[in-house]
Amino acid sequence: MPEASASIPGVTQESGGAGRLESVQMEQNIPLAGFTTLGIGGPARWFATATTEDDVVEAVGFARERNLPLFVLGGGSNLLAGDAGFDGVVLHMALRGVQREGNVLKAAAGEPWDAFVQQAVNAELQGIECLAGIPGTVGGTPVQNVGAYGQEVAETVRTVRCFDAHTSTFVELTNAECGFAYRTSVLNSSQRGRYIVTRVDYALHAGGAACLKYADLRRHFGDGAVPSLLLVAEAVRTIRRGKGMVIDAGDPNSRSAGSFFRNPIVKADVLLKVSESSGVSEDAVPHWPAGDGLIKLPAAWLLEQVGFVRGYVMGRAGISSRHTLAVINRGGASAADVIALREHIVQTVQQRFGITLEQEPVTLG
Ligand SMILES: Cc1cc2nc3c(=O)[nH]c(=O)nc-3n(C[C@H](O)[C@H](O)[C@H](O)COP(=O)(O)OP(=O)(O)OC[C@H]3O[C@@H](n4cnc5c(N)ncnc54)[C@H](O)[C@@H]3O)c2cc1C
Repeated sequence: MPEASASIPGVTQESGGAGRLESVQMEQNIPLAGFTTLGIGGPARWFATATTEDDVVEAVGFARERNLPLFVLGGGSNLLAGDAGFDGVVLHMALRGVQREGNVLKAAAGEPWDAFVQQAVNAELQGIECLAGIPGTVGGTPVQNVGAYGQEVAETVRTVRCFDAHTSTFVELTNAECGFAYRTSVLNSSQRGRYIVTRVDYALHAGGAACLKYADLRRHFGDGAVPSLLLVAEAVRTIRRGKGMVIDAGDPNSRSAGSFFRNPIVKADVLLKVSESSGVSEDAVPHWPAGDGLIKLPAAWLLEQVGFVRGYVMGRAGISSRHTLAVINRGGASAADVIALREHIVQTVQQRFGITLEQEPVTLG
């Protein structure tokens, strides 16, 4: 059970035990497991829920005054929270609201992403329809340049409004300033920990044709079809559901953090080693050009080559029976269980192919 908030200077105590620092709600010892899609994570020493930008500023000030680290939490769908919890302030982003200005949708960070996609699609605004069904919040999407089924948010993000913890001011990062690339932006690389996203403005296309770059989608509709945005978003959700990649309380395969490993980007000559180690021709190794003489390899294929197939079990952790890249909590798993499986996979792939897989979800604690 979470403990009631202690009395803190500058914080008035409310009935029910939850403390309030002016407007931001500060609670203590809140288990993080319930805030992550993996259902794993020990307690946060302090847990603040921000519903306004002022709340964000106050929570940052609260952490600073006490010299505590601060972690920004969205929907917890790209997060592996440690069993010992977090000895600092977790700032839960719950700012809500969407405004339309022409073809630009301005969405507060705490808006649920999939519902926002549906709003865009309903308004016949094209650009994010293939990103339907991805869990998490709007504020989480620029962080790792969320992408799927032939689209990524880098294509449509116009600006990202953030609290800059270095200068203690609100700034609006342009698309170029976000430094988007495959599953990355400045927010999760060079400037990690600096910016707290409070709003993302998406520049969409009125009346644009749905994106059908992805083979699974083209197969779904058949050659020459010109489906509406609504149909494409629904098809993406259906395809994802079939792979356990939408959150569904009735589907144990969806108790995951999505893809657990990034597709590795390696020098082109690594292809030869992979081909020799896997006993197939270079042409038979799936790969795509990634620019600058580099290639991208599918992490799922590498895992399957070394025996980490769908349904693989290691104690209370395992691999989804419908998606090779989704590490799942099979029930009662701890972060240590997931980490043990991760290490086993990373070491096996490293030994066989000389490639070090990178974990996609963020680790906390
Ligand atoms: C079943 C499933 C399927 C998925 N499919 C995909 C997919 O197809 N493509 C894809 O790209 N991802 C996918 N994901 C991963 C995940 O949904 C996305 O990365 C999502 O955008 C994370 O958002 P979140 O709000 O849950 O972030 P969280 O998990 O809460 O946080 C992730 C990181 O973002 C930071 N962050 C979150 N909000 C903010 C903010 N407002 N300001 C600053 N930093 C912030 C956190 O500090 C943390 O570092 C999937 C996950 C699951 C569980």
